[in-house]
Amino acid sequence: MNKYWSETIKGITPYVPGEQPRAGRLVKLNTNENPYPPSPEVLEAMKAAVTDKLRLYPDPNCSRLREAASRLYGIPAEQIFAGNGSDEILAFCFKAFFDPGDTILFPDITYNFYEVYADLFGVSYRTVPLTENFEVSASEFSSDNDGIILANPNAPTGKTLSLEDLETLIQSNRQAVVIIDEAYIDFGGESSIGLIPKYDNLLVIRTFSKSRSLAGLRIGLAMGNRSLIEALIRVRDCINCFTVDWIAQAGAIASLEDTGTFSHYIGRITATRGRMTEYLRDADFHVIDSSTNFLMMSHPFLRAKALYEALREKNIFVRYFPKPRIDNYLRVTIGTDEEMDIFYDAILDIVKNTH
Ligand code: PMP
Repeated sequence: MNKYWSETIKGITPYVPGEQPRAGRLVKLNTNENPYPPSPEVLEAMKAAVTDKLRLYPDPNCSRLREAASRLYGIPAEQIFAGNGSDEILAFCFKAFFDPGDTILFPDITYNFYEVYADLFGVSYRTVPLTENFEVSASEFSSDNDGIILANPNAPTGKTLSLEDLETLIQSNRQAVVIIDEAYIDFGGESSIGLIPKYDNLLVIRTFSKSRSLAGLRIGLAMGNRSLIEALIRVRDCINCFTVDWIAQAGAIASLEDTGTFSHYIGRITATRGRMTEYLRDADFHVIDSSTNFLMMSHPFLRAKALYEALREKNIFVRYFPKPRIDNYLRVTIGTDEEMDIFYDAILDIVKNTH
């Protein structure tokens, strides 16, 4: 029944997000959401936005939101773009900066959406293998390309590239746009935002879905040279000018203005991450050092898929990727201490009972 489908859509494998299970008591550690609530100020700001103003279309340019971001990040508002989650901004990038037939580069193990968007928009790509230790090898990104996308920290490995390596990469690829996806940077690593005034080919993308506890609100930002932002605006205005609604704009502004709750919860998540890494290593798991709100872990003799299924039986949801090199790892989001204790006890129980 797909006779009306385009050839592109017939041939594409869409991105598969982690499950969003509905029922019952469960421990949900599969989609890197923040276990803590948005701050009360953010919730209040959103409630205050529910007025008869909703009759009107939202500000397509998210002017007040971009001004708030400008104050926080020290980048002029006209060099900031706001979108409906960073996924939307990433999709716009493929239309704004690449043409069908162009070749872009990204690591072989990274956020799967880069490949999906490339296929959807007819952009060719070469993948650059991670090192044995799952590091991105910046020097392997030859300048023979029409664009580069890097998640820093990388996902799902959780490792970062140093600012020095990133700058060298951006500098040696001035022929093309370098997109740095900083979805997890608030949990560790050095942001590239400070390099924006120096490099007109750098676009930095942020999300409110992880460190800002607002995955359900759908907000992302892109920051870069004015001409890159103008290209994104063009794409948006050819598809849908109004991708960020009034309520989301209000919540996002309050989130940028509230630094207290935000940094408090980041501190908690990174402390839990450190404790869990230690516990799991003591229990013989291999855990990759993480700069994010998730851990990649494997067991010396139990297969990740079996662990994933056994955890699921216990209503604990983690992520398993059937992909070469990482198919023996589980990706586990850092939840509350209580959730992580439930997870830890359960996985130890599974290991014990499989002997
Ligand atoms: N980039 C990376 C590396 C991610 O892991 C995610 C979340 N899955 C996103 C972007 C998208 O985030 P959002 O669309 O919620 O802003």
